[in-house]
Amino acid sequence: MSNISKEFGIDDALKQLDIQKENKGTSVGENFFASGEIIESYSPVDGALIGKVQATTKEDYEKVAETAHKSFKEWRTWPAPARGEVVRQFNDELRRLKAPLGKLVSYEMGKSYQEGLGEVQEMIDICDFAVGLSRQLHGLTMHSERPGHRMYEQWHPLGVVGIISAFNFPVAVWSWNTALAWVCGDACIWKGSEKTPLTSVACQKIAARVFKENKVPDGISSLITGDYKVGEYMTQDKRVPLISATGSIRMGRIVAQEVAKRLGKSLLELGGNNAIIVTPDADIKNTVIGGVFGAVGTCGQRCTSTRRIIIHDSIYDKVKNAIVDAYKQIKIGNPLDENNHVGPLIDKDAVKNYLHALEEVKKEGGTILVEGGVLEGEGYESGCYVKPAIAEAENHFDIVQHETFAPVLYIMKYSGEVDNAIELQNGVVQGLSSAIMTNNLREAEKFLSVEGSDCGIANVNIGTSGAEIGGAFGGEKDTGGGRESGSDAWKVYMRRQTNTINYTKDLPLAQGIKFDL
Ligand code: NAD
Repeated sequence: MSNISKEFGIDDALKQLDIQKENKGTSVGENFFASGEIIESYSPVDGALIGKVQATTKEDYEKVAETAHKSFKEWRTWPAPARGEVVRQFNDELRRLKAPLGKLVSYEMGKSYQEGLGEVQEMIDICDFAVGLSRQLHGLTMHSERPGHRMYEQWHPLGVVGIISAFNFPVAVWSWNTALAWVCGDACIWKGSEKTPLTSVACQKIAARVFKENKVPDGISSLITGDYKVGEYMTQDKRVPLISATGSIRMGRIVAQEVAKRLGKSLLELGGNNAIIVTPDADIKNTVIGGVFGAVGTCGQRCTSTRRIIIHDSIYDKVKNAIVDAYKQIKIGNPLDENNHVGPLIDKDAVKNYLHALEEVKKEGGTILVEGGVLEGEGYESGCYVKPAIAEAENHFDIVQHETFAPVLYIMKYSGEVDNAIELQNGVVQGLSSAIMTNNLREAEKFLSVEGSDCGIANVNIGTSGAEIGGAFGGEKDTGGGRESGSDAWKVYMRRQTNTINYTKDLPLAQGIKFDL
């Protein structure tokens, strides 16, 4: 055990979550098995091996898919509020295990312990939301044009939902999908990221225990583990009508095509390239807090991380200098220690991508305002700790157009009206999160209007980073168009059926068509 692991109680957390040194990564209910390759999970915090997980093979997957499909046929007959009651009990367990699960998220993924706890809190919040929803899966009634007819719509469970998730929200994204899908009456098969396999096993164990106590059939919560090949078992499987995939745009393009080939449905939550517009009427203090947290929080590894700040030329130097000054106070180190603001990147490949972005922006003519670099020496042995960097850049630079999943912030200028800033903000292929800092009502409303931000999320006087359960989360353009975790996102996990009932002795046809025999 490493010093950090000892000092911050990782061993105890693993014990509470029933995580062993060697784990099986396939599961239907409490039945864990696997016969695939071994995935070793190393912590980016200190480079220590946390545990091993054996991956899912095609044969293992077949067992999972068959069981999930069979169990769905029973689960769909449970009244939705009874399904909600199971989710309520699952939520009780999450509340009880919030600290150890938050700690494992922090240690395996590298985000701060506070953010790890925040992620588990999101799981708790979506479960609360889903329990209420279990009594509100409403359909509409319509007036039929035919006399003596009644027309209405109802929502039925969809079937088996496949969930593919990214490393940076290793537990919350699963629950955003499952909590809703379960109350809707679906079975869920989850493939978490191969970079965070232990958090997946921990979550599945919590759900499986509660489900067993409630005699929920095995397979309503199922886990598969491995890399993209294991994901492909699901994307190519006709028995899985919906694939909810969270990750890079590159992955989304492949998944969308695979699922479309078999005419399945995809819910895509892909990369962002999020900007904050700072107008002459902005509150500078709040801009700095929102901008810096957005850019360096989770070491720049949130889909909603602030990548670009677009500042009006009249206040450009003032805002730029304030942000650069704030970067001097950032403490980088062990994310389990709450004195640090920024933890490590997920792995050495991410470090390479970060260094590549800094090289590219210089090559394209950008100016480095805050130097980056990889940290070495005591406390940084994992090789994944980097310095958050800032570059003055232009929106059309190739590197600025791409999402680099690391703490690299691009600052740029606009002049004239807010429309010019909106054009820059919208001038990227991604469309996830956006924000404007202004106390000018006209600018704020313009930003939110049809001529304003083209993103799925548009905020006024808060940054781009993070979101609340309750609002539909997701983005437009290459971000994929999916929505989850709030509003009417539940509808994607159900199928809509329109019913017309004739209670007369005649058979009138619609549109006045006559067919006399
Ligand atoms: P990634 O695309 O490398 O992997 C995501 C998941 O997809 C993993 O589980 C991976 O195994 C799987 N996968 C990859 N190729 C696949 C294929 N061909 N078929 C099936 N599955 C496949 O992403 P990552 O590095 O884990 O996460 C970072 C990315 O995720 C960033 O782009 C970030 O913006 C995005 N993200 C988006 C959201 C959102 O809600 N919009 C949330 C979190 C992360």
